[in-house]
Amino acid sequence: MQEKTIIRLCEILGSDRVLQNEPMRLHTTFRIGGPADVFVRIRSAGELCDALRVCREEAVPVYVIGNGSNLLVADKGISGVVLSLSAGEQELFEEAVFKDDGSVAVTVWAGEMLATFAKQATKKGFLGMEWASGIPGTVGGALRMNAGAYDGCIRDCLLAAEVLTKQGERLLKTAEDLSLSYRHSNLEEKGQTALSATFLLRRGNAEEGLARIAELTKLRCEKQPLSYPSAGSTFRRPEGYFAGKLIQDAGLRGYRVGDAQVSEKHCGFVINLGSATAVDILTLIADVKERVQADFGVELEPEIRFLGDFSGLAERVMQACRLQGR
Ligand SMILES: Cc1cc2nc3c(=O)[nH]c(=O)nc-3n(C[C@H](O)[C@H](O)[C@H](O)COP(=O)(O)OP(=O)(O)OC[C@H]3O[C@@H](n4cnc5c(N)ncnc54)[C@H](O)[C@@H]3O)c2cc1C
Repeated sequence: MQEKTIIRLCEILGSDRVLQNEPMRLHTTFRIGGPADVFVRIRSAGELCDALRVCREEAVPVYVIGNGSNLLVADKGISGVVLSLSAGEQELFEEAVFKDDGSVAVTVWAGEMLATFAKQATKKGFLGMEWASGIPGTVGGALRMNAGAYDGCIRDCLLAAEVLTKQGERLLKTAEDLSLSYRHSNLEEKGQTALSATFLLRRGNAEEGLARIAELTKLRCEKQPLSYPSAGSTFRRPEGYFAGKLIQDAGLRGYRVGDAQVSEKHCGFVINLGSATAVDILTLIADVKERVQADFGVELEPEIRFLGDFSGLAERVMQACRLQGR
């Protein structure tokens, strides 16, 4: 990594915010991942635009992440700069706009935690995001993934979003512009970064909203292996099936590669029993894919995103996880 990039990032953000050789296992919910050359915490849209401009001008590879809750980072780490968006100092509802029809539009910085926003909105009687109260990602990551759970997803309550283009232009997009579909938006293919999201919520009874959150939290705790590191559902839901059920029916409940395991509690989750490596997780994903394909003729696709240097893995694993050329 060029010294000049580091010096320029330190100038705009302060040297305590620019970490070198930072282990990514400390910044992913899988608790897996080798070092990033440079890791920077970003707390506002202004900081993000400035940091991305420096990386563009210095021509260094740069990756924007949120809470790392849908990420598998390579054991060899990431060469380049990782910009990790996190909560800012602004009061969450500072920019709430009340409408005559009983709705309220709230704009939130992409680094805020989605679950914190959903819970605080509900407490204020701004309803419509109760479904998001257990998703451990940021608003930006949730926008990128069109995150969803139970009876809701980002597409249902997003009014607009501000994004930054590769060229450094700030654009306001409608929800429609983002082509939101099942766990997908067009941000990645366009190389755009979410700066903020404006959600349209309805004013209602806070107690009812909080009761719904309590009900969903109970369901999550009962069904999901929340006491182990994971990245949530490992696979996308194949058309007409549930990934977890297929994996269970293929006899893979509890199946292990090193410390990577198909959760005994919920077969749709791959968990880290303690010291799993990225290679363990990828090998397990390849094994599961092959077994489910052989038993049921269904192709599972990973929902989790891969980041970093995955070179040198077995061809079979590279192909299963579509890692060629990375
Ligand atoms: C226990 C557990 C439960 C989960 N339950 C759910 C669930 O119910 N529903 C669900 O949908 N997901 C669930 N997830 C997965 C995950 O929380 C979501 O996908 C979440 O939206 C990811 O947000 P993040 O900030 O952690 O993104 P990261 O994991 O940091 O990044 C994910 C992707 O988004 C990109 N990205 C991040 N921020 C931005 C940005 N500002 N602009 C553009 N791209 C960006 C990254 O580059 C990466 O490609 C769960 C995960 C865990 C660990």
